[in-house]
Amino acid sequence: MRSRAVLLAILVLLSPTLPVTVNAAPAPPVGRGEEPGNGPERNEVAALDPAPGVAAAATGENRVEAAQGYPRRTELRVYPENPADKSIKLGLAPYHSLAPRLNALQQRSNRVSVEIAGQTGLGRDLYLVTLTAPESPAETRRQEAWRDKIENDPRAAARDGLLRIGYKTPVWVNANIHGNEWEGTDGALRVIDYFATTQDREALTLLRNNRVYLNLTANPDGRVAGTRQNSAGFDLNRDFATGSQPEARAMREMVRRTQPMMMLDEHGYVANTLIEPTTPPHGQNYDFDLYIKHGYANGLLLEKAVQALGHPEAAKPEIPFRDYPVGEWDGWPPIFTAQYAMYHGAVSYTIEIPMRVNGTDYDTQPVEELRRRSDINTDVVEATIRTTIDYVHDNRRDLIANQIEMFRRGAAGEAQRVLPDGFVPGFGPEDRYTTEFPRAYVITNDRSATAAARLVDHLVANDVRVRRADRPFRLGGREYPAGSYLVDMHQAKRALANVMLEAGADVSARVPVMYDIAGWSHRLLWGASVDIVRGGQVDVRGHDVTAAAPTGSVQAAPGQDLVLAVADGKDASAVNDLLGRGLELGRLGDGRVVVPAANRSAAVEVADRYGVRFTGHAGDRGAPLQRRTIAGAVAADELKALRDMGFEVRPVSTAVLNAGFDWSRIDVLLVSSGLRYADLNPAARTALGAYLARGGVVTRGATGARFNTEAGLLAARPVAGREDANGVISVENGTGPIGASALPHSFVYAPHWFTDLGAGVTVEQRYSGLVAGHWVARADGTGGQQDAKGQASVVSGTSAQGARVVLFGTEPLFRDHPKGLYAQVAQAVYWTST
Ligand SMILES: [Zn+2]
Repeated sequence: MRSRAVLLAILVLLSPTLPVTVNAAPAPPVGRGEEPGNGPERNEVAALDPAPGVAAAATGENRVEAAQGYPRRTELRVYPENPADKSIKLGLAPYHSLAPRLNALQQRSNRVSVEIAGQTGLGRDLYLVTLTAPESPAETRRQEAWRDKIENDPRAAARDGLLRIGYKTPVWVNANIHGNEWEGTDGALRVIDYFATTQDREALTLLRNNRVYLNLTANPDGRVAGTRQNSAGFDLNRDFATGSQPEARAMREMVRRTQPMMMLDEHGYVANTLIEPTTPPHGQNYDFDLYIKHGYANGLLLEKAVQALGHPEAAKPEIPFRDYPVGEWDGWPPIFTAQYAMYHGAVSYTIEIPMRVNGTDYDTQPVEELRRRSDINTDVVEATIRTTIDYVHDNRRDLIANQIEMFRRGAAGEAQRVLPDGFVPGFGPEDRYTTEFPRAYVITNDRSATAAARLVDHLVANDVRVRRADRPFRLGGREYPAGSYLVDMHQAKRALANVMLEAGADVSARVPVMYDIAGWSHRLLWGASVDIVRGGQVDVRGHDVTAAAPTGSVQAAPGQDLVLAVADGKDASAVNDLLGRGLELGRLGDGRVVVPAANRSAAVEVADRYGVRFTGHAGDRGAPLQRRTIAGAVAADELKALRDMGFEVRPVSTAVLNAGFDWSRIDVLLVSSGLRYADLNPAARTALGAYLARGGVVTRGATGARFNTEAGLLAARPVAGREDANGVISVENGTGPIGASALPHSFVYAPHWFTDLGAGVTVEQRYSGLVAGHWVARADGTGGQQDAKGQASVVSGTSAQGARVVLFGTEPLFRDHPKGLYAQVAQAVYWTST
């Protein structure tokens, strides 16, 4: 299922060294068929599966060789049989059975090709299966040229009669992205079996005119372990704006490479089968007319096909666009597979198959009943795939024209169409979302070259075209130096560029409730300086880049001390790398880090590795800074972000501390999840008390604020904003250790603020207002945007015990996304432990 993003979640970690926590979860919306305890993913950390028999991950990508035709037979490595695979109980295909089966199918049929699309976190192969009639290398090259023409020369593509006849319309099926929603894989296998062996004339015609790509299981580690998340604890169907996880990056590459006309993302288990299109809000960057016309038409056919199976359990599919209230199943953020795929030209669907087999049902239902349900689910998956393939075949020309038109409008810089009421049945004012595309964005090194490079690399990885200026230029009334990056918004995938670079919108007034996040701006949250050029001529000499230019440098005379401003998570990575080599650095009062001249060669190395910039420094070397070790009661996403910054993190929880924890090497305790002071036993409190006399504390969110109160640290009363409020906020920064170098924007989910501040508590940051997202007050009027305005979102101070403490009411590491906020956490770690 897509599942509502409630912030607080039930967290169960199986490793004895990891925390076990239960947080209160807000009630899910009525009528969504969500199972409590299964939906929330924000803080849920997947069990770390030992993956018996998984070989070390092969590196390197398996990109299409233009010289190859089809079939592309790949001898897949076979994994040892794993009797613990959670698919087995359901009578479904365990992961280890897939490679032998695909190897046999490739031997048997010249219509089946398998490529390895990447590896999971635990090193399992991801299988991209292609169904197509055989092609010579020349035919494949021509297909590739047509695909390229559709995207990059859409005007010519629109006039190309041969393309219209000969282009094989691509369909992409994504299965099992949530590991414990298994049957997408099994339904896909049935379709693969059928097309591999059938002699049906129409089926063969279909494979001559279309290509069907199937990501057989998008989340093998989750499939085996029976978890929604991947092995790192991430919900992959929230990761498309960020690309934090290898499985999500593999999917991104699939959609980019195949450029599907239609796509299905097969999930479970909601209602009586759920078929998109979504409710509003619809992403304001879409050419919605091009999507909804076919999206709704095929949606209705999918409904009929599911009904025709004759299962009473799937007799009444729900189509959110038609059946649900506004916001209940929205299509707003580009974090979901289906909504992301639309930016690459797909008419896409999240499909939810009906019969629950996960959660408590998995453990409590008889095996026969589970298998009966899984059979029905597999039927539904198969019906949706086959119906969609047929739809694409029947509507080939129109779908091709549609995708060409989307890219043509982008390249021409045309305004979006404003759709009349009734454009499709039920389309009304509540469905109308549009935006204004700027003429260009300019990404500069003004604030951080490191952050600029990261943003450029991310845009390029998403198939956004970015140009690097060969010489200085003038645009929008400003001079830019050579080397600045330009995103010319007259480009095919301008909608994708804009959904990452625009601020977004505050949809609070238009939508009573949202399904997941409503704000995410890479421009405002990733730490780069980005100018918006509203109009005028864009004539910038330069070249399109495949990656940003290197940014690391050491700009100082030989023999001079070096200094690094910790303005980005990458700066922290460089500092931690140096500290990890046993070097002693210095920390200045303003947070900058001094590297003695004697360590210059190490500085040169890390400057290159992390793309950071050292400059010369004279005078005071600041307070000694050594390697910092964090005891972290944190969520999976935070753990990943901290470790990416090079911090050594030892996961802790109430249970871990109660079992006796060695504090001797800990410098900072970070609390956001899974630790409750009031539940600590006397021995654990005593040990913690001794630690608090010398070590630092950083907290985040409700759990962190409660820890601060119960442990009697800073005098600051936490106030909780509405639990589902989220988005990009503007902030006012103070001059303290955290605020001084912070961005003017931050991110919140279930925001907190701090009042009744004691003497000696410093306000690091205050809320100004919501820029983009969804934040309304509770029914009783509390917890809204207005209450938060001007309140302290981040504070720092020293406790009576002598511990330095920082309290975050924001979400600086949320889902590994807001990269530009990470330095605040690094500063908090360094400052509290200094
Ligand atoms: Zn799902």
